[in-house]
Amino acid sequence: MIRRHLTVTGTVQGVGFRPFVYGQATRHGLSGWVLNNGDGVEIEAEGDAGALERFAQALRHECPALARIAGISVCERVPRGERGFRILASSGTGVPARGSGGRAAIPPDVAMCAKCERELLDPADRRHRYPFINCTQCGPRFTIVEEVPYDRPNTTMRAFAMCERCAAEYCDPANRRFHAEPIACPVCGPTLSWRDAAGRPLHGEAALQRAVQLLTAGGILALKGLGGFHIACDATNAEAVRRLRVRKDRPAKPFALMVRSVADVERCAHVSEDERRTLDAPQRPIVLVRKRAEAPLAAEVAPGVPDFGVMLAYTPLHVLLFETGVRFPALVMTSGNRRDEPLAGTNAEAQERLADIADGFLLHDREIHNRADDSIVRAVGNGCVAQVIRRARGFVPEAIPADVEQCVFAAGAELKSTFALSRRGEAVLSPYLGDLDDERTLSFYAETFEKYLRLLDLRPEAVACDLHPDYLSARFAEDYARRDGLTLHRVQHHEAHVGSILAEHRWQSKEPVLGVAFDGTGLGSDGALWGGEFFVFQPSGAIRRVAHLQYFPLPGGDVAAREVWRAALSLLCHCGMADRAVGSMAEVPEEQRAAVRWIIESGANCPPTSSMGRLFDAAAVLAGLGPAADYEAEAAMRLEAACGEETAPYPCALTEGWPADVLLEPLVREMVADAGQPARLAARFHAWAAEMIVRIAERARQEEGTRVVGLSGGVFQNRVLTELTREKLGARGFSVLLNHLVPPNDGGISLGQVWLAARTRKVG
Ligand code: ZN
Ligand code: ZN
Ligand code: FE
Repeated sequence: MIRRHLTVTGTVQGVGFRPFVYGQATRHGLSGWVLNNGDGVEIEAEGDAGALERFAQALRHECPALARIAGISVCERVPRGERGFRILASSGTGVPARGSGGRAAIPPDVAMCAKCERELLDPADRRHRYPFINCTQCGPRFTIVEEVPYDRPNTTMRAFAMCERCAAEYCDPANRRFHAEPIACPVCGPTLSWRDAAGRPLHGEAALQRAVQLLTAGGILALKGLGGFHIACDATNAEAVRRLRVRKDRPAKPFALMVRSVADVERCAHVSEDERRTLDAPQRPIVLVRKRAEAPLAAEVAPGVPDFGVMLAYTPLHVLLFETGVRFPALVMTSGNRRDEPLAGTNAEAQERLADIADGFLLHDREIHNRADDSIVRAVGNGCVAQVIRRARGFVPEAIPADVEQCVFAAGAELKSTFALSRRGEAVLSPYLGDLDDERTLSFYAETFEKYLRLLDLRPEAVACDLHPDYLSARFAEDYARRDGLTLHRVQHHEAHVGSILAEHRWQSKEPVLGVAFDGTGLGSDGALWGGEFFVFQPSGAIRRVAHLQYFPLPGGDVAAREVWRAALSLLCHCGMADRAVGSMAEVPEEQRAAVRWIIESGANCPPTSSMGRLFDAAAVLAGLGPAADYEAEAAMRLEAACGEETAPYPCALTEGWPADVLLEPLVREMVADAGQPARLAARFHAWAAEMIVRIAERARQEEGTRVVGLSGGVFQNRVLTELTREKLGARGFSVLLNHLVPPNDGGISLGQVWLAARTRKVG
């Protein structure tokens, strides 16, 4: 007889791991026990050597679908001759002291599984139409957990005492709800309620019926979901969608849709095999798909852009919205917040903040402890992989393997903010927290940070943030570093973009890499606003900026992200064509143009920029696609949508030597010649950007020996550009790295910061 103690780390709590261990141990005739602790799962197993070996194999190779084993450590124990195998309550023994960085991974939330869905819709089941049905393979996780280990008393389900029947299922190792921590039923679990300005509150099924009535009548519904609130309306009802746009102060940005099935997505959009798989994945993200012209939807859902986001109903409550009375072809399902505010988390918060948006509220009494917005994913490449565009519900707080040993807190950027915390070989990112430009988002950020430190049980040893001194994230990091006496690493924004790719691809520094970072703007180390950058990352750790777009003045700075004609005017001035009212410049009143020309000449509030994002904006204006944008990158999206068949790029011109300037005058002159022909201009402009990358990549290969090119930054959310660049680089023998696990936009910056700060520390 041999007895072994095993510690299994990774995502092993809340995924049915203990019942799985129990089943395997019993099958192999082992005695002992299993329990959850702050590190993961602890097992003691006793039996003969062969059985223990088979048991260990099974742990690795047959573990539950949602589990992710990071490591198994084994030590020998003295056999005790104990009988039977037991699942023990999570115990204090083996729980490490606070701050020692326990390794228990908190599982992300999981969409309702097929078995639960069957029960939900089965009139004979005791959970028929119960909106909070779940099991060990599905349901809320991260959004309800307050403490580790992940056990019911450490979740917001603590408030509900299990009824006898639920308790029996919970305690029965043969039941699929054995230790399903959020287990609930109509007798003992959370309930729905309905609130509106007029009537009396309703509860349970009546509340649901009322909500569906409201949607059917074209009303706007606020509903509490898994990680926050949604605002919903019938996506086929133009009047309803228009009203929602007005109330939410969101004139143009596409709304996400929720549908019942993949077939419903196919009626609205062209869906590839990968996209189908991604739609149906346990994370159930919003997937960006190409709209069908004949989609049975109100045009107001996604005006003027080719792609929109669709997700499948992912909680039992969502499914019930589609399974009550009429079946909506699609519902608009947008985040429950006002413009530029964080997601509402509690019933009271939602009712207060969304009162003048929603006509009624479908609420419930299961509290959301950690808010998480819907994630957004898109498929890139031909039959290729998914790329996360917004990383939140379903993904967080799953760790990303990264070669970082220290515990670094990286504060991220400002827009699409996330922070990251690293620990022994992995980085854990916060959910997408929104744009960090107001008090409320900042306090959401600070609150999430405190929760993460507690849940992950970490004490940062170093801090990283952006170079930009005015980013609220950078100020937060400064304060934190000062208070705790920690070193603060300031990481340049675009270097961090490239760092995020190298971190997730686990680049081993054996050969140099060319990193391309194209985005709106970020502060450069020379004080200019960078955004069209090329770096060589050397194996030594040295980073050299080898090329960038030629600087041009950006009149008004940030204002130019919305008033996109400003960048166009600046480029026209740059080429001595200030008076040419070409493309959409003609729509800008002459006084405004004169005022901005004056700003450019005086140089006041006119930072020099190498921003590729603003260059895309300018191209869209010259193409005649409108002088203004309602949201960042809208103009660029319109330009992408306009691309015609033309393949001849505009002329590429680079200065000699490093750092090379990408000259803009030859480009702008030819764009002016094509002004007012959007299909042609857009296609040639995209071809120019891709060709320019190839030219610089070839020069870098010659001079620096780089054969690998990484593409990051928000501009690479542009499919046409990304595909074209990949194709062209591939044809010339380069290998291309893209972001997959973290967004190419600023949501991925925190991972790059962690990775670069850790490397600086090692070198220094
Ligand atoms: Zn389930
Ligand atoms: Zn119950
Ligand atoms: Fe950026």
